[in-house]
Amino acid sequence: MTIAHDAFDRHVEERLPAWLEELAAFCRIPSEASNREALGEAAAWIADRLRRLGARVEVLEREGAASLVIGEIGEGRTLLAVQHYDVQPAEPLELWTSPPYAPQVRDGRFYARGANDNKGELLARIWAVEAYVATVGALPCRLRFLVEGEEEGGGANLGLYLDANPWIREADAALIEGGDIDVDGRPRITSGVRGMASLQLSVRTLAYDAHSSMAMLVPNAAVRMAQALATLWDDEGLPAVAGLDEGVTAPTDAQLAVLATVPESDTDGLLEVYGVERFLGGRSGRAALRALTFEPTLNVQGLWSGYTGPGGNTITPAEAHARLDIRLVPDQQPEAMERAVRAHLDAHGFGDVAVSVFDYQYPAWWTPPGHPLVQAAIRVSEAVLGQPVVQQLSGPGTAPMSVICAAHDLPTTSLGGTDDEGRAHAPDEGIRLDYLAAAVRMTGRFVDEFAAIP
Ligand SMILES: [Zn+2]
Repeated sequence: MTIAHDAFDRHVEERLPAWLEELAAFCRIPSEASNREALGEAAAWIADRLRRLGARVEVLEREGAASLVIGEIGEGRTLLAVQHYDVQPAEPLELWTSPPYAPQVRDGRFYARGANDNKGELLARIWAVEAYVATVGALPCRLRFLVEGEEEGGGANLGLYLDANPWIREADAALIEGGDIDVDGRPRITSGVRGMASLQLSVRTLAYDAHSSMAMLVPNAAVRMAQALATLWDDEGLPAVAGLDEGVTAPTDAQLAVLATVPESDTDGLLEVYGVERFLGGRSGRAALRALTFEPTLNVQGLWSGYTGPGGNTITPAEAHARLDIRLVPDQQPEAMERAVRAHLDAHGFGDVAVSVFDYQYPAWWTPPGHPLVQAAIRVSEAVLGQPVVQQLSGPGTAPMSVICAAHDLPTTSLGGTDDEGRAHAPDEGIRLDYLAAAVRMTGRFVDEFAAIP
């Protein structure tokens, strides 16, 4: 659409005020996981919006699950836009400058829960199609919006929906839910996400909580759990579980070349952010960056046992629990993590500590950084923002892209306009108006690039 860039960009500028009204209407729906009614309302809202775009829409239902909305427009090579209409809980409400579900524009930024993650990014892609059709003509490819309602909580329903409707996965590439722009205004293109394995450890040492006068005779579950946990890390705080790295592939030269473009200060600056003097293992600079990129984590997210409420309760606890999360890198399998932790505990004399899978798990999904899809995202981002891209092999977080992409080996990339001040998941979540418009313009150019990939 080379000739039509001006018309497209003018259209975006003209339509933006009306589009912001639309974003406000979407963001007024408090579609948190605990609010089933609002989830239903948000699903119906986005299905209707996709229909008004001219998309063929299917709203899929499953017992006990939020609806999955699929909207498809255009013909030809298929690009999946992976999005969600659910939002993180808005608490703590007192930290919001304006109420989370009463959207407000202040100083060039649109504030509301979901403005950034993911309602703004989702609508920017819909608006890009609208602007394209209005100023250029029919889309040169098929864009299939996959809009789920359980992204923030994880869970198995997305995989079950897709297993029952395998046509949804039949595509040529997938867009991660959004994209971001760093503090210096440079677009950050991410071509992967980490995977996730969540495990729960449980131990019972007594038939019931004992009077703590028995503590010299009977085993305390909290102590037992602490002893078991202590074996999972070495004295430096680094994982000591054999097999934790099962399946991990060595970095490729292309990946290392991308990593070499990231300034070391990006990682070392985190020492100050977190108020620590050194990273675990004394790693710094390039070694820290490499670990952050290519190594799986092993993290305790919480542990509980006995009594910690007001007043004392002098018991010797009968049971103790801990939750672990492991952020996976290619090509680790989540199931192998459970086996590795189990084998480690057995080998260290903790056969009594039970290991179970808690919550959701899925592998990582990374696309080679030189892939034409990723290069296309880089070109359009640089063209729109006029700044060189910062390339990332993987975002720090996890998303179930493998659940969507693995069946047909779909390449994936980020593309969009949230920024580091966007406060996703936090109070005062927002999105910059200029970056929202930039996201629309990038996406409009991207569909042409995507259609032209040889
Ligand atoms: Zn999200």
